[in-house]
Formats: sequence, structure tokens, C-alpha cells
Amino acid sequence: MKNPDHYPESVRKLEQLGKQIDKDKKRAIRKTKQWKFDTIAVHGLYSVKEAIEKNQGSIVEPLYLSTSQAFQNADEMEAALAYLYPGWIYSRIANPTVGYLEDTLTLLETYDSNIEAGSIATSSGMSAIFQALQPFLERHNSDEMINFVSSCHVYGGTFQQFSIRKEKEQDIQVRWVSDPTNLDQWAENIDNHTRFLYGEVPSNPSLTFFDIEAVANLAHEHELPLIIDSTIASPALLRPLCHHADIVIHSLSKSMTSSGFCIGGAIIAKKKIVTNIENDELKEDVPRYLKLQPFRDFGPSISPFNALMTLNDLRTLRSRMKCLSETTQKVAEFLNFHPMIKKVNYLGLKNHPLHDLTKRYMILVDSEYDFGKPLHLYGHLLSFEVKGNPQNTRDFFDRLQLIFRATDLGRIKSVATIPAISTHQQQGEEARIMASISPNDVRLCIGGEHPDDIISDLDRALKSLKKNSRVFINRSTSQNGEAAGKKDKSRTQKIRELKQRG
Ligand SMILES: *Cc1c(COP(=O)(O)O)cnc(C)c1O
Repeated sequence: MKNPDHYPESVRKLEQLGKQIDKDKKRAIRKTKQWKFDTIAVHGLYSVKEAIEKNQGSIVEPLYLSTSQAFQNADEMEAALAYLYPGWIYSRIANPTVGYLEDTLTLLETYDSNIEAGSIATSSGMSAIFQALQPFLERHNSDEMINFVSSCHVYGGTFQQFSIRKEKEQDIQVRWVSDPTNLDQWAENIDNHTRFLYGEVPSNPSLTFFDIEAVANLAHEHELPLIIDSTIASPALLRPLCHHADIVIHSLSKSMTSSGFCIGGAIIAKKKIVTNIENDELKEDVPRYLKLQPFRDFGPSISPFNALMTLNDLRTLRSRMKCLSETTQKVAEFLNFHPMIKKVNYLGLKNHPLHDLTKRYMILVDSEYDFGKPLHLYGHLLSFEVKGNPQNTRDFFDRLQLIFRATDLGRIKSVATIPAISTHQQQGEEARIMASISPNDVRLCIGGEHPDDIISDLDRALKSLKKNSRVFINRSTSQNGEAAGKKDKSRTQKIRELKQRG
């Protein structure tokens, strides 16, 4: 960028004014940070003053659909385009409505901490992942073999982006960690050509968890950032930046936008990031760097309309995550003792092997104020394995009447999917086994319906299955025991063989 000294005096004056505007914004952030989570989620930085002075008193953040900003004169245009004076310029780079969403996301992800961070919203969660990783994947020289280390328990789309787009097309090695709770597995994969560590907690759909602080400390020992996809938890239940992670990724299409009206994503990053990449602007402020450079050139920005939809749903995030998590706990406990269910995977169940670890991290924000002690909640996503052969699972699935069959989650309506034939269809059997996904797994994301109605829908579908079941299922079969039946046995045998190979 041009040295600021080379600009005319009148532009330099605007730069001074811009510094004052930045200071005022910092003051507003400090003031806002004194509020509780719910208040921040409802208001963000959109103040009475901003409404009256800039937006004709509109109490709701206005929707600026305009592609571009008009400038008063040449000086303002030059200063804004040199990024010396705050302006939004053009909606591919920035937009005021999107800006309100980004401010709120930063405040929520750094809630109750002194962490300095910034955010950038993107057109989708997949786009957020791509844009967040790309600046770290530049080669120092053209034949350098670079790599990154990732938990293998990631969203199906992420798996595809990593294994096909990055590994096959871009020749970037993805080093999968099959057990992310094992710190040695992370450590032994790191070398001088590693660029970052990546994980998803809780993971979708396998619902795994790992010790974020331990993995972050390991990353920092090697001068690497830890990037966490925190879509499933949302900042109401978990804030990875507060546990030493460096960058957080969200699909805004899920828990954040429960209405299901739009697709979106976000990158929230700490300032002055740890990295072995020689790029001072990136190190200083990842979202600002992305906004002013790669976003300008690649164009993955979110629509202002989608940003407003998300912002509106975000206002009730905490109460919603509380209600949905409590219902999910009830549903998980119901399924856990159901004779037709082989296994329930929910981090909130005491018999889940990762329950105690997860409990250290997942707490309803501000619950100490309301209940005098932390309330541990585990989110709205669970998965379970139906007994019998895969056809049994499909029959159960087809008999759901209230719960929608869709590859979706985070909705105010309960939604179920069979990952093996949907989200994880394309990655193949071996990769599914690596990510612990069985053809009998059903992923269920609980909505705002009454728990009794969700439970009766599941119970009815499971009971009708029993009557028509193609395989005889013994009621006395233990919780994690194998269902009887020849077809099922050969299936289990096959999975076991593949597991031994993998
Ligand atoms: C859905 C999802 C994504 C991808 O987000 P889109 O907005 O659908 O692109 C990424 N990570 C997780 C954990 C998801 O559930």
C-alpha cells in the first residue's frame, strides 16, 4: 500500500478524523462489553445515538441493500479507498448491515474476556473455512510440500474441501488425526511445513470433543494457530477464543439462524495471531486483512439481507440454546434406554466417554448469574444408531411424522438425517468409518417443539418398526450389544474388518 505521507494534506486531515472515529468505536465497544450476553446479542453496537443520528431513528438495524457508497468529494473517496478513513465503499468489501452483524459476532465470541478480536462474515460456512485457511497455505517457494493437521471428525463438506479441493487439487497434505483426544497424535504430525491445526468441537455428526486448551498450547509451541469450527456449540455454550484458540469459524446457516432463512458464515479471529507465515498485515488482524485484500479479490461476501436475518435470530441465541439443549438432553435420555436403539451419541449423557472433558468447556453463558452456579448444557445435536440392518434405519426414518427429513440443523423445527446417505455420502465407506459414521446412524437436531411431542414421534416410529422389523430384535439385548440377525451380523463383521484395516 502507498505510504500515507504521499497523500494530499486534505486527505491526511480525513485520516485524522478517521482515527477519531476509530477511537469512538473502541469506546463504544468498551461500554458494550460491560453488558451481559443477552443485552449484547440484542443490541450489539447499534446504539440509540446511531439510530437517531444516522438512521432516521430506526430501532432495528437498517438493511442497506445498496451495492455502493456515495462520497462527498474526491478527498473522501481517496481516503476511503486507501483505507485511511472508514467507509464501506462497495458491498463486496464491506456493507453497513453486514458490519452490525460482524460487530455483534466479535462481541459474543469474546464475551467476558479482554481478548481483542475482529470478525468477517462470508457467503456460507464452507466459504468461511476456505477463506480462513487460504492465507496460511501460501508456499514459501514453489516446490515446498506444505501440510496442515486436522481432526478427522469434521463436517462432511469440510472433509470434501480438505481431501479433494486441498489435497488432490492444490497438493496440500492433510494430516488427519483419528483420535483428537490423543495429544501425541497431533504432535507427531507437526513438522516445519505445517501451517495450522484444525478441529471441530463438538463435531458434526459424530459429536466428538477434544481438549481445546491443550491442542492450542501445542500449536503455539510450534508457532501455529489453532482454528476451531464452533458451529454446533455457538458462543452461547462455548467460546474457543477464550480457551486459547486463535480463529473461530461458524456456519451462520445453522444454530445462529434458527429461522432457516439464509446461508452464511463467519470468521472471528484474535488480533496479533500466532503464525509462521511472514505476512505482517495477516498477523496483525486476520479479518481486516481478509476484508481489504482476499475478499476484495475473491468476492465471498455475505448478502446484507442474509446478514440481517442472522442478526435478528442472534438476539435470542442464549435462551434458544438453553431451551433446545434441555430438550435434547431429555430426548437423549429417552433414546438411551430404548430397546430399539443400539447406541446414543450425546455429549450430555453421563455414560459418554467424553462427557467429563466436554463438561469443562460447555457452559451456558451467564448461567452463574441466573442460577448461582454454572449450568452445563451440550447443545441441540445428537446422533443414535438404530438396531438391525440399514433398511431398518431407513424404515424408522420414513415413519417420522413431526420431525422433518432434511440435511439441515440448528432449526427451530426438529430435523433428522441419515449421514451415510446425505451429508457423508460422497466421502466413501472407509472415510465414514474413520469418522465413526455407521449406515445405521441417524443425526437428529432438536428444535423448539415440546419435548413430549418429539419423544412421541420417535417412539411411534421406533415401535412401528418393531412390528414390521425384518430382523428379530431381542428386547434383552444390552445397550451397546449387537442386534441379532444374520444380515446385521455380516454388516457388523464388514465394518469391523474395515476398521481393522483403517
Ligand atoms: C453446515 C456446516 C458447515 C458448512 O456451513 P454452510 O453454511 O452450509 O456452508 C461447516 N461446519 C459445520 C460444523 C457445519 O455443520
